[in-house]
Amino acid sequence: MARIVMKFGGTSVADLDRIRNVAARVKREVNAGNEVAVVVSAMSGVTNALVKYCTDLSPLHDAREYDAVVATGEQVTAGLVAIALQEAGVDARSWQGWQIALKTDNAHGKARIEAIDGATLIARMQMGQVPVIAGFQGIGPDNRVTTLGRGGSDTSAVALAAAMQADRCDIYTDVDGIYTTDPRIVPKARKLQKIAYEEMLELASVGAKVLQTRSVELAMKQRVRVQVLSSFGNDNLLGSDLPGTLVVDEDEIMEQAIVSGIAYSRDEAKITVRRVPDRPGIAAAIFGPLSDASVNVDMIVQNVSADGTTDMTFTVGRADLARARAVLDAHIATIGFAEILSDADVAKISVVGTGMRSHAGVASTMFKALADRGINIQVISTSEIKVSVLIAADYTELAVRALHTAYGLDAA
Ligand code: ADP
Ligand code: ASP
Ligand code: MG
Repeated sequence: MARIVMKFGGTSVADLDRIRNVAARVKREVNAGNEVAVVVSAMSGVTNALVKYCTDLSPLHDAREYDAVVATGEQVTAGLVAIALQEAGVDARSWQGWQIALKTDNAHGKARIEAIDGATLIARMQMGQVPVIAGFQGIGPDNRVTTLGRGGSDTSAVALAAAMQADRCDIYTDVDGIYTTDPRIVPKARKLQKIAYEEMLELASVGAKVLQTRSVELAMKQRVRVQVLSSFGNDNLLGSDLPGTLVVDEDEIMEQAIVSGIAYSRDEAKITVRRVPDRPGIAAAIFGPLSDASVNVDMIVQNVSADGTTDMTFTVGRADLARARAVLDAHIATIGFAEILSDADVAKISVVGTGMRSHAGVASTMFKALADRGINIQVISTSEIKVSVLIAADYTELAVRALHTAYGLDAA
């Protein structure tokens, strides 16, 4: 007997037939004698529609009310999955974040989990009942509903698995594992049997949406065994009944690839602050106010100066672009720039691999592969196990495919 958390993403619960399919999968695990808790996302498209309601009414809406709206998607699915399980003869009960309680900090819209009381859920499972938990949501110190950031149901699932000392956390999605890159844009992507926490963490943080970054961070810290697998079986193009991908410790992986994966993100925007005085303190004058306004800055370059002024180029989340511009405009007197340019039609392409620590030449292979296709690099950033470049968004797929080939990742 094992204790398992089964998480189902948006496409896996997109309609009633798929919800019945989820119930059948859960029933199989229950009949095999396992204790099962289920975590669900909103039905596919629902969260996007809810977010759009908020932004259409007010682009700079109140984050507390945003959470009140967007958390509802998961609430619907939890109830529906519980009904489908009951209909299939499985004892089940739905749970919202506040009922557990899954406590978070006060950062509405991107809250962090602070504590989970696993006792009630464990007691229910021991009675033979399946708890069906609304992912993505919790309750903040102000006693109001919070959400964990887009893709946050993965984090709910891993956190619950840790709190309930589950043997496994199975993330069911619309692909049958973690690939060398997004299999939807590179048909030659290869499925990985295993991936190291560190690599998955880096891939997720640069845009591979298959797992939310925080879920990987948490799994690594709490030693949760995470598996990514398909909820569709063989009846879906990218589905299969084969085992999925396990996220494991680095030393469980025999052969370290230099580059193990490639990711892209179209969620960033580029800002150039033109002709700022080239003097000590200028970076603090620009980035201090942005940070105070909770705008995360990612890649940064400062251009060479000729006449005592310089251009500072950096990226922010696309959703933060309007706010970032407003913050900079409000500080024109202290920063002293000539103008602000921005471009949201950019993509960040990243190559990731722990083998980079001990191999030179990874970046130059990247630059050459992009140059050979005439793709211009606008900004570069690197870490110990990652190289990222910013390019025009139109070239995203071409760039990812070219790099996948250049690093020898294509499936035979
Ligand atoms: P869910 O709704 O189940 O949470 P997501 O859409 O959040 O599903 O994540 C699954 C998607 O992640 C896949 O459909 C795929 O397009 C994308 N993806 C991006 N990078 C990868 C990768 N390296 N391996 C597998 N899938 C990836
Ligand atoms: N429904 C939420 C989202 O679309 C959370 C999730 O799917 O993980 O971001
Ligand atoms: Mg997801």
